[in-house]
Amino acid sequence: MSDYKLGVAYALEQDQKDDLKAYRQQFHIPKDAAGNNWIYMTGNSLGLQPKSTKSYINEELEDWANLGVEGHTQGKTPWLSYHELLTDKMAQIVGAKSQEVIVMNTLTANLHFMMVSFYKPSKTRFKIVIESDAFPSDKYAVQSQLRHHGFDDNEGLVLWKSRRGEVLLRHEDLETILEEQGDEIALILIGGVNYYTGQFLDLKRITQLGHKYNCVVGFDCAHGAGNVALNLHDSGADFAVWCTYKYLNAGPGSLGGCFVHERHAHKKDLNRFTGWWSHNKQTRFNMRDEFDQLPGAEGWQLSNPPILSMAAIKASLDMFHEVGMSKLITKSNKLTGYLEFLLKQLGENTIRIITPYNTNERGCQLSIQVKNANKALHDKLTNEGVISDWRAPDVIRCAPVPLYNSFTDVYHLVEKLKSILNEQ
Ligand SMILES: *Cc1c(COP(=O)(O)O)cnc(C)c1O
Repeated sequence: MSDYKLGVAYALEQDQKDDLKAYRQQFHIPKDAAGNNWIYMTGNSLGLQPKSTKSYINEELEDWANLGVEGHTQGKTPWLSYHELLTDKMAQIVGAKSQEVIVMNTLTANLHFMMVSFYKPSKTRFKIVIESDAFPSDKYAVQSQLRHHGFDDNEGLVLWKSRRGEVLLRHEDLETILEEQGDEIALILIGGVNYYTGQFLDLKRITQLGHKYNCVVGFDCAHGAGNVALNLHDSGADFAVWCTYKYLNAGPGSLGGCFVHERHAHKKDLNRFTGWWSHNKQTRFNMRDEFDQLPGAEGWQLSNPPILSMAAIKASLDMFHEVGMSKLITKSNKLTGYLEFLLKQLGENTIRIITPYNTNERGCQLSIQVKNANKALHDKLTNEGVISDWRAPDVIRCAPVPLYNSFTDVYHLVEKLKSILNEQ
């Protein structure tokens, strides 16, 4: 980390040496009116489009045009089994076994479907723990599940908060919650990587703690998938959900991913919502059979999936597969470390990074608190072609994504921030 250097020459040199530099060329980088590339730092919100996506989608449009319904079985990539082509590659990204992973529905929908199976409250054990700054959709989903089961959502919701004067979560505080209320808690649902602070929590440690108190443990990995080594299988978590439009570059509103630990793969007595896609594939189209539960994560599917969206996911996963998470993470640590190094030059009195310093506790995102900042700062950055994300009251989130962001992107981001701050 100490070998970072100031000056643009260093950034250019790192880009030259970068093993993954060719991948930037494989993405559409949006441009300003003058034709300059945006400095795109919001891959944590919507990943950029791989140039290959169009041809993957076009192939399915052509099969549909030429084959109609026969595309289900006769297409180049038959639609009936299309989702199976995503499973192994997605499982590698999140560190799971193939049987544990399925691409289906959307993130919040999957969260609900997982709670249908894994949130089984009783009169005495019904509470749900989430982080106090959980992503709003997750909070709303959990509150509505509490109400759905007839509980008061204030009484049922337990918040894991950071301490006064701090922003990051401490594991000891979750331990305290469980010591005090463990036998009333049915479910612990935590964002694996917090969307606001960028803190990557220890999934295995949280799971072990929860299981010690007989709680179900699930994670929302929307900000983790394609960003950090999640090792979902080894974590022991009961379930996890994520989306594919953030770090996984599969396009706006694209399908979600879902993990169910293999120890639940054959549990036919688990309550769940089902549809024909949860039924044994061999006899699905007989249409008359008694329901025959498909084992594994696949058994949580309901519907035949939207192939055009899956084609975009396939384009992206093929690229992730080629690169591999370990190379991505190596570059990511270096690139984000470089951003951290440059930001520190601006002085701790001006800028405070709220994301953890330890690379094992973060992904590529840094959340930057700027002293006396308001949204005007963010708007100026946007005018300068830096696309970042503003969270009130004073945080700018920047996510240099190792697949397509460069060291020079990071260099220019900080230079522009510096000159805007100097003007103030
Ligand atoms: C992005 C994100 C969502 C969005 O949910 P959708 O159902 O895909 O709209 C929910 N939760 C978290 C933690 C997220 O980061």
